[in-house]
Amino acid sequence: MAQGTNRAVSRRRLLAGSVAGAAGLAGVAAAGSATRTPRTVSDTRPAAAGGVRLRWLGNNGWEIRFDTSNGTRTVLIDPWLTRFHTGTYSTAGADPNTPITVDTATIDRYALKADHILVTHGHYDHMTDVPYLASRTGATVLGTESHVNMMRALGAPADQLSVVRGGEYLECDGYTIRVLRSLHSMTGPRAQVPFPGTRPGAPPRRPRVISDLVEGETLAYLVTVGDVGVVDFGGSNFSAADLAGVRPTVALVPAGGGSIHSYVPRLLDALGHPGLVLPTHWDDFDYPLDQPARDWGGLSTLHSAVTAASPDARFTVLDHLETITV
Ligand SMILES: [Zn+2]
Repeated sequence: MAQGTNRAVSRRRLLAGSVAGAAGLAGVAAAGSATRTPRTVSDTRPAAAGGVRLRWLGNNGWEIRFDTSNGTRTVLIDPWLTRFHTGTYSTAGADPNTPITVDTATIDRYALKADHILVTHGHYDHMTDVPYLASRTGATVLGTESHVNMMRALGAPADQLSVVRGGEYLECDGYTIRVLRSLHSMTGPRAQVPFPGTRPGAPPRRPRVISDLVEGETLAYLVTVGDVGVVDFGGSNFSAADLAGVRPTVALVPAGGGSIHSYVPRLLDALGHPGLVLPTHWDDFDYPLDQPARDWGGLSTLHSAVTAASPDARFTVLDHLETITV
């Protein structure tokens, strides 16, 4: 079930910025069949050199794995494997009364491990599987007070949840995590945040439907392992002032952002033009993770914008469950 392919990327080439950006789109075009054969390409660089494996779990779900002197460590971002049907990318949009479900059998099949789980915001497509995954893995979970409250209401183990606000710079076992204040995508003709609001104070009643899972403010994260820094944004917006000094080697950039002035060029400028850009949040999650990703329509616009703003950057499209090593 946990099929996927691995790609090794030379950081030297990456840093030199000499790789053409267009090659990545071939990955999607080639992924036409519903069944794919697992393939493994070993990363021969020693762990001390900072080899970091990034696996796309669909939507904004990412697994970041690397070896430390104390063993392999794993950081998950917004893991959502259940992917229940909402109609989000249909003409009618997401049905706000869609019940929240957690498919533990599906989650178990991927056998994820985690030391940290990083939550960017409280929406259904980012947070619903996190309470169960926290219980399964024993991971420490970072989120705002609102996110943490809603995860408690969904049954997450309270002692594993850590409230962050943005600005934290955490020293972990062989890696660091910088928590960055960020902003959510704004959509529709009035540029609105879907399901806005926060749930501070006491945990709310148990969320039942997707509109119960309000945004709860949005965070971005910079995970740094040796000389590799990976920044992730859960929505297609950001706060430039909060990215001061953030200079990642890899940026996970969501598709969309049409309501945001110069979304991609301003973001890449603020990040110092990272050498590798991986699109995220570009697949229609009405379809399961074990099928090839289906573009909801934002991928080529993002690709063009990245190429125009950072012509020296490599833009690589991963399919579901594919891994890239940097
Ligand atoms: Zn959202």
